Amino acid sequence: VTPRNSISALLLLTLFAVGCAGSQQVTSSDAPPTTEAPPETPAPVVTAPLPPPTVVAEVPASPGPEIDRALRSFLATRVALRAAPPTARQHGEAWLDVLYRLDDACLLQPVAGDLGAFVRARATLEVELEHDRRRRVALPPDLDERLKETLAAVDEGVDALQLIGAPGFLGPAPERTVASVVLRRPLPTMAVTSPFGPRTDPFSGHQRFHAGVDLGAKEGSMVFAAAPGTVVFAGWQGGFGRHVVVDHGGGIRTSYSHLQDLFVHTGQVVDGEDALGSVGNTGRSTGSHLHFAVTNAAGSFLDPLVVLDVPLTPTPVVKAASASASKSMKR
Ligand SMILES: [Zn+2]
Repeated sequence: VTPRNSISALLLLTLFAVGCAGSQQVTSSDAPPTTEAPPETPAPVVTAPLPPPTVVAEVPASPGPEIDRALRSFLATRVALRAAPPTARQHGEAWLDVLYRLDDACLLQPVAGDLGAFVRARATLEVELEHDRRRRVALPPDLDERLKETLAAVDEGVDALQLIGAPGFLGPAPERTVASVVLRRPLPTMAVTSPFGPRTDPFSGHQRFHAGVDLGAKEGSMVFAAAPGTVVFAGWQGGFGRHVVVDHGGGIRTSYSHLQDLFVHTGQVVDGEDALGSVGNTGRSTGSHLHFAVTNAAGSFLDPLVVLDVPLTPTPVVKAASASASKSMKR
């Protein structure tokens, strides 16, 4: 390990720690970590100018590693509890701890590589719960309700990630090489009714990561492709209702959910003038609106309002987080 490597590793670790601690307020990750101020100089208020919008390269903390950490710690506690006759309180604490941690993880911005962790979380919770039920372990009275909520959050994470390239889910995208992609607004007029990022879920009242923007519009309004591309999915997709995913090349994809009618089919080539469908209220939706999401080659969700009209350069992200992410990358 060269000194340069260890320094950058340390920096990465610090950035990651900062990112995890601040799960509630996802800030721009370039502020220096202010763990301790140097003795002479007073801690400077951050005055550095904001960096140019390199939105594609930004890799924030994601739920996967947090979920796996929470599961490891939960299972270690469970093993310890099995070694000695545990009290109901100890069991309850272990359960609540893992549920809180998973809930917190579901507030982070998901990336394609997190899919496995979400699936592991569901399997682990179900197996361990079954184990407790068989041994008639006294569990907290509200555990079922809490568990249901956490599993719902985990399932939403799985749903969201399936939208951006789970193997076998999306149609094949042609090898389209693009210098840059400029996304235009999918609706002629847009009213943002729910922004990108952590929010209170309108159905459950719990905190979740909202991986797109909600744009209020009259039912039946035309929805346009944000840029030329190929439709890699057009059909029904659970909570997203009638749903379209367009691959624009360079790993950039956009998705359009809760549509009333679909005007395109999988495999169709579209340009920015083509209507993909009409605004509707299908799937898990509380009113007529468009859920619009953008993902990059690394399988990260981007804030659509930040990337609209900004040329997105398809930068190959060498994270190798998942096979599906690297498959969709072009050079
Ligand atoms: Zn939405």
